Amino acid sequence: MTARAEDRPELKHRRVTIVGSGPAGLMAAEVVAGAGVAVTIFERMPSVGRKLLMAGRGGLNITHSECLERFRERYGEASGWMAPILAGFPPRALIDWCEGLGQRTFVGSSGRVFPRVMKASPLLRAWIRRLEGLGVRIVTRAQWTGWDEAGALTFEDGTTHRADALVLALGGASWPKLGADGSWAALLPDIEIAPLRPANCGFEVKWSVIFRNRFAGSPLKRIAASLGDRTVQGEAVITAKGIEGGAVYALATPARETIAREGSAVLRIDLRPDLAVATLVERLDGSRGSASLSTFLRKQAGLSPVAIGLVQEALHAGETGPLSALVKALPLRLTAPFGLARAISTAGGIALAELDERLMLRRRPGVFAAGEMLDWEAPTGGYLLQGCLATGAAAGQGVLDWLRKTRP
Ligand SMILES: Cc1cc2nc3c(=O)[nH]c(=O)nc-3n(C[C@H](O)[C@H](O)[C@H](O)COP(=O)(O)OP(=O)(O)OC[C@H]3O[C@@H](n4cnc5c(N)ncnc54)[C@H](O)[C@@H]3O)c2cc1C
Repeated sequence: MTARAEDRPELKHRRVTIVGSGPAGLMAAEVVAGAGVAVTIFERMPSVGRKLLMAGRGGLNITHSECLERFRERYGEASGWMAPILAGFPPRALIDWCEGLGQRTFVGSSGRVFPRVMKASPLLRAWIRRLEGLGVRIVTRAQWTGWDEAGALTFEDGTTHRADALVLALGGASWPKLGADGSWAALLPDIEIAPLRPANCGFEVKWSVIFRNRFAGSPLKRIAASLGDRTVQGEAVITAKGIEGGAVYALATPARETIAREGSAVLRIDLRPDLAVATLVERLDGSRGSASLSTFLRKQAGLSPVAIGLVQEALHAGETGPLSALVKALPLRLTAPFGLARAISTAGGIALAELDERLMLRRRPGVFAAGEMLDWEAPTGGYLLQGCLATGAAAGQGVLDWLRKTRP
């Protein structure tokens, strides 16, 4: 159990500031205030947790039920340094925390974990009540702008604020209208920041006008998408500019990196993952008689209109080879990721080398960072919220350790 400040003189009368009221900032506040330290959260928007509420619109996938070893791998290059942080606040702890706030959870068929109400607002309301009960002060419409010469935090309205420790939890740069826009990078000029890039994003595809006009907005259900040696089952949606959706997001990191290296990336779509190649060869690679291509594909392979449209697009683009091969591995040339503003999350951020193991900035003692503003990325599936909450808890714990070691 965490010792309360009244029992720990080094925590008494200390003040901690958190900037950013997303999941990372609120979790850091809970850990610090839970030890009895006075916490103030500053948030630039008129209300707290806007991106968390937006995540709730999709059901609020809070974490995943797979084993911790597999779970850790989802953080790719960051999995090494994230491992102890995730071990300190693993998926089980997140589920217990969620249930402790009155939100019963369930595991969906894909192994993803959701609150039963499938939204964020009751969770956020209960969380704010808990924080207020711990004495946390929340100041909204307060945009942090840096430090003054005396080391006090400065805000856009001209006010300043002093604290014994600071947690920056300013988010990434996707969906900027929800508050996090990456502008914090300019406030940390001495800190190495890996470029902010779209993650879990859609990609541009040069559709023909006919295809775009007819199929923009159409879902591609029960497909498998492959890039290199990775294959993902799921769904996607055709948009006017390209393609997006779960199966595409899951391959977004290698697709983005391939495009950066080679100018484009070829995504292969299996339009009938449930049918064996041999079955499709038998059904599609003989003569189609007098049937039109679309009737033939519909009757022989059970393809939807949009899937038929994709095959026709490929043929118009000069693809040769048997129809069975096109249905099993339809090539789509991705030319660019959709912009960062439309991405679900952000890759890049404060470089690992800038942080100590407690998530304190090495060049700025007493300043911690957490959440999406750190340089890690993960697919959708609950890994984003888990990563933000776990780094928030770690930064909060780091603050307490720092306060214990330093004088007011
Ligand atoms: C549509 C959508 C759906 C999603 N669904 C899921 C999901 O189901 N599961 C999942 O795991 N993840 C999901 N995510 C991702 C998840 O919501 C984010 O990863 C998470 O909210 C990031 O938390 P954070 O605390 O790091 O940053 P944020 O939640 O972005 O919070 C940062 C806060 O800092 C504030 N701020 C920024 N700059 C300043 C400043 N200068 N001064 C004061 N305040 C400032 C911002 O206003 C913001 O409130 C989704 C994201 C989107 C966009």
